[in-house]
Amino acid sequence: MKIFTIVGARPNFIKVAPLHRELAKQADITSKIVHTGQHFDYLMSGIFFEQLGLPKPDYFLGVSEGSPTEQTAEIMLAFEKVVKTDRPDLVIVVGDVTSTLACALVCAKERIKVAHIEAGLRSGDRSMPEEINRILTDAIADEFFVTEKSAVENLLRENVPASRIHFVGNLMIDSLVQCSAKIDQVGNIEKLGLLPQSYILMTMHRPANVDQVDGLFKIVSIIRDLSKLKQVVFPMHPRTRKKIAAFDLEKDFKTVKNLKVLDPQGYLEFIGLLKNASMVITDSGGIQEEATYLGIPCITLRENTERPVTVEVGTNYLMPDFNIDSVKNLAVNILSGTFKKGAIPEFWDGKAAERIVAVLREKYINSYVCAK
Ligand code: UDP
Repeated sequence: MKIFTIVGARPNFIKVAPLHRELAKQADITSKIVHTGQHFDYLMSGIFFEQLGLPKPDYFLGVSEGSPTEQTAEIMLAFEKVVKTDRPDLVIVVGDVTSTLACALVCAKERIKVAHIEAGLRSGDRSMPEEINRILTDAIADEFFVTEKSAVENLLRENVPASRIHFVGNLMIDSLVQCSAKIDQVGNIEKLGLLPQSYILMTMHRPANVDQVDGLFKIVSIIRDLSKLKQVVFPMHPRTRKKIAAFDLEKDFKTVKNLKVLDPQGYLEFIGLLKNASMVITDSGGIQEEATYLGIPCITLRENTERPVTVEVGTNYLMPDFNIDSVKNLAVNILSGTFKKGAIPEFWDGKAAERIVAVLREKYINSYVCAK
């Protein structure tokens, strides 16, 4: 049986690595990786292949930079060509990026089965491009692999049959578990001259926060306030850097004294930074989950999250009244030791890939072998 797994953007590489490793162990499966090229440079793509042991992709679609619509169209055209010459029996898509939806749509038109990993997550906020990608991918998928109970409930509410919903845990945590020794060996914080618990980690890249000048002003004001409490370390996403340059705000960031802006970090380096931070302030989806797993207090600069377990069970706080004072007050409390300690959500135990392959074996692989 031939299975293609789609990767396109940074969080995809991290989730797909443990799954591909598990698929590759199965003698009766040919597992191929298709890289759309949505993130293509070394710091956003190549380094993750190296660090996570992902093989060179079997297909690289090489989509160029462009609007989400242009990228969706380009990915669809290129992926259609691939499946017409090398037809898979099943395509696995992960998460909520442009590549996820574009490839799922091609499969729907070509009548190829689709499994969606991280299905059912809903922020309820349709102004987020990712939310549209999630809803539409789930409207097409055949199998739904979910990371938390809220996703099961969302899918049932949307009339997905229970027999297609599989609560298997979180591949992102599989990678964390598998890489934990290597993360300590890399020793990133020592290389950066940082001490454990001596800094606040920050990441920011969602269009809602960085695409408008007001959002960036808010971020730099928050950093200015927080940097009076502790050093702020900010590995900057290329999108954020580009927007700061476009709005001519570089000097606003440069003049903050206790701020260390870094290039996007490799996975091992980034998790090293996260593990040793006093807290993290982010708008990332995956980092809310990693902070929960590691027990690091996390302030998410968003009004909602598609990952409610990180708030209900984990260490994550949302900012429904996202103003500078409320972020600062919460940060002061956290730094003085007043924060929820959190727990690790159900099935976030490093075995999600094994569970996914077990489901695929039962529902597809065994019957495929029998039919041959
Ligand atoms: N990450 C990384 N280097 C960085 C920032 C993040 O390796 O400089 C990792 C992080 O550990 C997490 C993933 O990238 O596993 C999250 O990706 P991102 O925030 O870009 O996407 P999202 O999760 O919001 O879709």
